[in-house]
Amino acid sequence: MVILTGFAIHVTYACPITCAHCALYCSPKNRFTLPINHILETIRNLPVSTTKMVTFTGGEPFLLGRDLISAVYEASHRGFMTRVVTNAYFAEDLATASNRLSALSNSGLHELLISWDDYHTQYIPFASIRNAYWTAKDLGLKVAIYLVQASNSSWTAERVKHELGGDTSAPHIIIGSPLNRTGRAEYNLQHAGPSAKRVLGPCHYVLAGPALSAKNKLLACCGLIPETKALVLDQNLEPNRLNAALEKGRQSLLLNWIFLRGPYAIMEWLSKRYRIPIIDIKEVGGNCEACHLLFNNKRLVSKIPYALNENPDEIVDELQLLRNLGIITPEAILSLWKDSSTILDMSIIPDNSP
Ligand code: SF4
Ligand code: SF4
Repeated sequence: MVILTGFAIHVTYACPITCAHCALYCSPKNRFTLPINHILETIRNLPVSTTKMVTFTGGEPFLLGRDLISAVYEASHRGFMTRVVTNAYFAEDLATASNRLSALSNSGLHELLISWDDYHTQYIPFASIRNAYWTAKDLGLKVAIYLVQASNSSWTAERVKHELGGDTSAPHIIIGSPLNRTGRAEYNLQHAGPSAKRVLGPCHYVLAGPALSAKNKLLACCGLIPETKALVLDQNLEPNRLNAALEKGRQSLLLNWIFLRGPYAIMEWLSKRYRIPIIDIKEVGGNCEACHLLFNNKRLVSKIPYALNENPDEIVDELQLLRNLGIITPEAILSLWKDSSTILDMSIIPDNSP
């Protein structure tokens, strides 16, 4: 059984900006927001013994104001590590950054993940990123920059480190992610070629890092393609059904297959077995883009039940073997199966964070 390690809550799909690559179609006009009592009740139903981290993301979580503070307080005081993902729109000056971030720090926040990349630049000045970064560090939070990159991106990890300034010898933490052309990016950014650092391999988020969408769908993974039926564990979650829905997901052969092999390998298997043409691997931007291509190909989707019928023992036996060997964690499986693609770790920000 895949072990739950993190849980993400998409608290809102409202966002002050409208990035061209946004997988979730967030914008100032998007009104989907979870009620605070629903967020709190969901946190109260999360298994404390296995869930390490609760991540509050969106959309822009800081738009929740005091409700975000209540949610972080609830999660951290129940024993979870907590992370907030933000575009730092609020950090126009150091005083405001300090005001907003110290309130969260006082409520028990552990980590701040700041989104920045080419697609943010037309809306947010880098000075806001710098203000939020150094203020969070001064408050003792772990902090990292989340950088989405395509082949033609002008913002690289080195450039971000340089622009952050401060002690440039310190190993600033940059968490990179390849551009997956899903959501708005599917229409706006087809011309952006896959990043050399794309990830194609076993998916270490599915089942290990489920999410609750701002539309109240319980998703099997962090949710870059939240409307994909096969990845929805509950269409309209009642918090008291959370554990039953997660357990149902853990029993799913399809989700376990994605965890073990990843969506592109499944496409290849189906293509070979049923002679269905698929896109060349060189054209695919990353795992979530592959997942989107898999689940939007009606011919491939129609064959999935037959494929699962053909090789259930292989999937179940492999999981059992890995469990017996004690290497059922997503990180361990990645190290077994990773190909030449670079694996980018979005799990807990390392302890050696400066
Ligand atoms: S990518 Fe992030 S910052 Fe940009 S619109 Fe989406 S939620 Fe907002
Ligand atoms: S590869 Fe698929 S299952 Fe994994 S995180 Fe991406 S969308 Fe979710």
